Amino acid sequence: MAEIDARIENIIQDVIRRNPGESEFHQAVTEVAETLAPVLRKYPHYAEHKIIERICEPERQIIFRVPWQDDSGEVHINRGFRVGFNSALGPYKGGLRFHRSVNLGIVKFLGFEQVFKNAITGMPIGGAKGGADFDPRGRSDDEVMRFCQSFMTELYRHLGEFTDVPAGDIGVGAREIGYLFGQYKRITNRYESGVLTGKNPSWGGSLVRKEATGYGVVYFVEEMLKARGETIEGKTCVVSGSGNVAIYAIEKLEALGARVVACSDSDGVVHDPRGIRLDTVQRIKEVERGRISAYADEHPQAAYQPAGNIWSIPCEVALPCATQNELDEASARALIANGCIAVGEGANMPTTPGGVRALLEAGVAYGPGKAANAGGVATSALEMQQNASRDAWTFEYTEQRLHEIMKDIHRHCHETAEEFASPGNHVVGSNILGFLRVAEAMVAFGVI
Ligand code: GLU
Repeated sequence: MAEIDARIENIIQDVIRRNPGESEFHQAVTEVAETLAPVLRKYPHYAEHKIIERICEPERQIIFRVPWQDDSGEVHINRGFRVGFNSALGPYKGGLRFHRSVNLGIVKFLGFEQVFKNAITGMPIGGAKGGADFDPRGRSDDEVMRFCQSFMTELYRHLGEFTDVPAGDIGVGAREIGYLFGQYKRITNRYESGVLTGKNPSWGGSLVRKEATGYGVVYFVEEMLKARGETIEGKTCVVSGSGNVAIYAIEKLEALGARVVACSDSDGVVHDPRGIRLDTVQRIKEVERGRISAYADEHPQAAYQPAGNIWSIPCEVALPCATQNELDEASARALIANGCIAVGEGANMPTTPGGVRALLEAGVAYGPGKAANAGGVATSALEMQQNASRDAWTFEYTEQRLHEIMKDIHRHCHETAEEFASPGNHVVGSNILGFLRVAEAMVAFGVI
């Protein structure tokens, strides 16, 4: 007993020692490793094969220079990353993030999470992540195009529909995927649709991919509520962020009869007690690429709070859909005090370890990102499936597939948590479920 706990503690300490300064990566590994002791007790051969140790070490890490010129001709140099974390279940799969905060530690935490998330979907995809410390904010379309072309001119040699298939993440949407695909197509002389996902449906993308992460989170929360005899209908909700994930989470919540009273961006929070007007948010963010503060200028009943804490606004359902570590322990306690009954993570690792502990202790239904936001990458896998068969499915059929996948994820997480003596704990359920799927393949492949 104590031996296994000591072994896991050693693995965590080794990761911290060998990856200095990468605090988000340490956090992601610790959060998973801490839940795996019961797995090693039940399946000692995973310890013998050093599966946890191997899963914590990325298979490959690529770092490259991305030089580009802005509209005035000035040269800029950014740093590009792609970490192929694990390919036991399929080609590397995971998004690209363009944001000034991107560094190797951030990419590794995201890649590590992606391994488990992708396994949980049940689709044949490995885990990866990439990006650059490029800040697209305030850049013209031409500048973004030149950046994407330079980025792909180096990255293309590491990609392929059977090798590594990137998609979007923060700062990378349909526009960037278009420029990236165009450059890949040009320099490889191949129309290889399955090399990127999140493409526009008019040239090889899947319907519902854009909506999938947001819809998926809401489907997951719906399942968590159902297990407690509750529904989404009539609930007051708060959704942080106002990007792709937040927008479609709000859309689905409203379609199911909930009222979303607040959303945000990295500058501030909008509180609209009558219900957030999604058309306004979409126009500000998707068309004008502006800031959410503009919302309050158009809707006088709404309050805008610069640098406000969205989690202090009373709600029954909270969906963190912005970024990592946006919901800390004090915020979790504020949610609990205000009667919040469910938290579903649309972002990757948005809740701090102290926040997670507080939510679980208070009995809040908590859906960790690895499970709750897996609908995006699951639909990417559906896009790959359509590309491989040169087919295009209808919106209704694709959404139905997404809905079934999210229900399966919830059921499997639930059953796994029960099997490992932590009923209702989706942290335990998702970590162990993802681990077991990857571990079984890794053992089969031998020491590679
Ligand atoms: N970036 C998304 C995620 O965090 C999507 C990845 C993908 O579709 O490959 O899961």
